[in-house]
Amino acid sequence: MKKLIITKDSGIPLIGHIAFGIIDRGTNLLEVRPTTICPLNCPFCSTGSGPNSRIHKIDYEVELNYLIDWLKQILKIKGELIEINSPGEPASYPKLKELIESIKKIKNIKISMQTNGYLLNKNSIKQLEKAGLDQINFSINTLDKEKAKLLSGTKTYKIEKIKEIAKTISKSKIKLIIAPIWLPGINNKDIEEIIKYTKEIDAISGIQKYEIYKYGRKMKKAKHLNWWKFYNQLKKWEKQYNTKLILKKEDMDIKKAPRIPSPIKKGEKLYATIKAPGWIDNQMIAAARNRCISVNNCHNKINDKIRIKILEDKNNIFIGEKI
Ligand code: SF4
Repeated sequence: MKKLIITKDSGIPLIGHIAFGIIDRGTNLLEVRPTTICPLNCPFCSTGSGPNSRIHKIDYEVELNYLIDWLKQILKIKGELIEINSPGEPASYPKLKELIESIKKIKNIKISMQTNGYLLNKNSIKQLEKAGLDQINFSINTLDKEKAKLLSGTKTYKIEKIKEIAKTISKSKIKLIIAPIWLPGINNKDIEEIIKYTKEIDAISGIQKYEIYKYGRKMKKAKHLNWWKFYNQLKKWEKQYNTKLILKKEDMDIKKAPRIPSPIKKGEKLYATIKAPGWIDNQMIAAARNRCISVNNCHNKINDKIRIKILEDKNNIFIGEKI
């Protein structure tokens, strides 16, 4: 897949796109997305990521210094927690250790990261621990050897190696949350095995609900539950296994916080400059007022000036169309 490195000179702002940069959802936690690259092809991936992606023809990677420049500015305004997360696998980011070290230097705040563990090893865990990483949210969706290959969409995925990595993390200073996605009808028994395993290695359970997204991959046999049914089953498992499974925002120290101001509003018409190819077909990334805007049905060239109407503005993430 083609990879675009987003540099200082690119003129691509690091707020406004769902796939890279910084996302503020109105809490004290900022999401930092340095890369869209993921080595796995999970058949339920909510963002349709991975080397076999049919949705995405391009990956983005943000240059470390540029990301740090933005974080310096934003952390002056807000941010008590940082989560380095998807749509890609954070461990694919070549400067992950440096990213963590640099954030800690700007502000000594709690940093967590999501990972599937595929690219980690004992040495990289040591480095992340030394860099100051506080927490890992580890996605393990089954402990069964063959099913693990199926659920990762990757023949070279070895659950025994992943378990070794989880064990290493559990013995480090990094807090470990085992965060499987429960795919009802696909990995029910596996989730119970994972609950027992999580207790065994003294980690925390963070079972996630399977959600279906427009551009994500879907597993036909996986049932979609409502939140009531999801939490009801978690409560039953809590009793059965005598362990805490329902994590609330407060358990993760997440609380509401004023948002970064949004300079663009839904319905507004404005001029923007094309800066890069979009993440999905027929889309381009434009920039205006220091924000990224994904413009639908757009085939303009880089540096073209276009007039657009804003269709979506949620969480400072913008979608527009040409007018
Ligand atoms: S679900 Fe996560 S690990 Fe799996 S392909 Fe998507 S981003 Fe990668």
